Amino acid sequence: MLNALVVRKDEESGKTSAAVEQIGVDDLPEAEVLVAVEYSTVNYKDGLCIGPGGGLVRKYPHVPGIDFAGTVEESSDPRYRPGDKVVLTGWRVGEAHWGGYAQKARVKADWLVPLPAGLTSRQAMAVGTAGFTAMLAVVALEERGLEKDHGPVLVTGAAGGVGSVATAILANLGYEVAAVTGRPETEEYLRGLGAARIVPREELAEVTRKPLESETWAGCVDAVAGAMLGRVLKQMKYGCSVAAVGLAGGAAIEGALITPFILRGVNLLGIDSVMQPYENRLRAWERIARDLPMDRLEAMIQPATLADLPQLGADILKGRVRGRVVVDVNA
Ligand code: NDP
Repeated sequence: MLNALVVRKDEESGKTSAAVEQIGVDDLPEAEVLVAVEYSTVNYKDGLCIGPGGGLVRKYPHVPGIDFAGTVEESSDPRYRPGDKVVLTGWRVGEAHWGGYAQKARVKADWLVPLPAGLTSRQAMAVGTAGFTAMLAVVALEERGLEKDHGPVLVTGAAGGVGSVATAILANLGYEVAAVTGRPETEEYLRGLGAARIVPREELAEVTRKPLESETWAGCVDAVAGAMLGRVLKQMKYGCSVAAVGLAGGAAIEGALITPFILRGVNLLGIDSVMQPYENRLRAWERIARDLPMDRLEAMIQPATLADLPQLGADILKGRVRGRVVVDVNA
């Protein structure tokens, strides 16, 4: 039997509840590769799936966990053999398909990538979907021409998962990072990750009707959207880009006008980690292994077990988790 966090839905009340249960290997969905899961994480989407699902979960009972790292145990696909170390992010695993909050997972071979050389499975999950997405955002900014001498790069939601990893990667690459946070107590943590400057959330929280503000940022990784993204767009330097990753602060871009796009040639780049093809995932993981300093990654980790997940799921939706939660599913 396997330990798993199972979310059940009461058909009459429509309410969901999550608890650690024992499941059988035969209960796992059909797919080519059986993985002995070592670590998973807590991402914003996991918070939704541990709770009522937010429209992401297709069918109950459900095992959430949108990412995991572990060792292949059985495979009917020639690309993977027992003993191979693998990582999974995306492809709606943990949403439409049972995910990483169990001691084993059965998934399609297409959804996996080999664990990159230089990373342990624990480190890979300290990165997880949030950090993988942060890397995709940095790559997107660089592809649009971001260079170190262009000026400061803003990271919003900086003390969260995406923000923490984006801050550490950008700082390590030599960019001057300005980290926006609503939690002043995280200043020392963010400076430890390499942030050169802390911007209090209030400075960017107000919705204004100004068409443009002073040209300030050479790039931005935005995890919050809402009013903050509306303001940031008006403060971008000429021809620079915002990589929009998430919506922790709202699903709209409040107070945004067309002016930054027309008068300053600003680019708004949408970043999606879920449907990334194999080659892109492999490249991003290789860059993570190369460009993310492991001592800074270590500083982001909050260890957890399956039993901690119901509380952590609620916490992440309230913006209360700092850095990256690494779940040891065998603890
Ligand atoms: P976290 O909860 O770890 O971080 C979000 C951070 O945003 C918080 O820590 C907080 O940072 C800030 N924040 C929260 N609420 C607000 C608010 N109302 N206004 C302004 N800032 C706020 O989540 P993740 O970093 O894991 O994910 C961030 C977003 O990115 C989510 O929307 C998630 O769904 C999305 N995402 C998208 C992916 C993709 O493929 N595009 C992949 C992974 C995540 P602080 O305390 O520092 O202010």
